[in-house]
Amino acid sequence: MKAEVAQQILLLELAEVDAELSRLAHRVSHLPEQQRFDQLQADQRGAADRLAVVTIALEDLDAQIGRLESEVDAVRQREDRDRRLLDSGSVNPKQLEELQHELGTLERRQASLEDSLLEVMERREQLAAEQATEHASVEQLGQELVVAGQARDEATAEIEQTRSGRDSRRAELVARLDAELVKLYDRQRTTSGIGAGRLAGGRCGACRIELDRGELARITAASDDEVLRCTECGAILLRVHGRGE
Ligand SMILES: [Zn+2]
Repeated sequence: MKAEVAQQILLLELAEVDAELSRLAHRVSHLPEQQRFDQLQADQRGAADRLAVVTIALEDLDAQIGRLESEVDAVRQREDRDRRLLDSGSVNPKQLEELQHELGTLERRQASLEDSLLEVMERREQLAAEQATEHASVEQLGQELVVAGQARDEATAEIEQTRSGRDSRRAELVARLDAELVKLYDRQRTTSGIGAGRLAGGRCGACRIELDRGELARITAASDDEVLRCTECGAILLRVHGRGE
């Protein structure tokens, strides 16, 4: 295949544009701003999960407290009734003994219920503090997420803008290049990732492998418009200088 030097210069630029597009695609998929956002999102999910667990535990405790309180009430009412009976003086000695015995039992029961209630209340206080902490975390992380999301969007937009410029340039180059040459270049790019490279210092610009002397002699002897391929990676070897060189 033949390609004029002017075409080869354009093809070299196309290879450079494609290399930049790959770098941009890599940057977009490895954006630190995205990683920060993802981390914050995971942290917030963790805090929200812990908040849900603490909230359920608190509801359980409140139900437990309700049961204990009504039990304490019932015991107190029973004690009051017994004391009123005792105070009325209308009980016989056998009943008196029974009432005193029951009062003793009720008092011990009340003391034990009050101990349990105290324990549960302390646990509730602890859980309520945990709930407040997790709630604050969720809120705080939510605010950080908004900021991180904006930073991520800004970084992405900046890259997208560069990418769009490079895409337009690529389309221009492809339009000016010989279709057969582009086809060959694209096929090579699909195979090895890089379609063309500049021959510099005896090395292929695509695979960076140094070509042997026989190969270099063959290249030197070839006419300027000959389309050469790297014997190592298959890339189109360009013997031209890029625009900035
Ligand atoms: Zn090569």
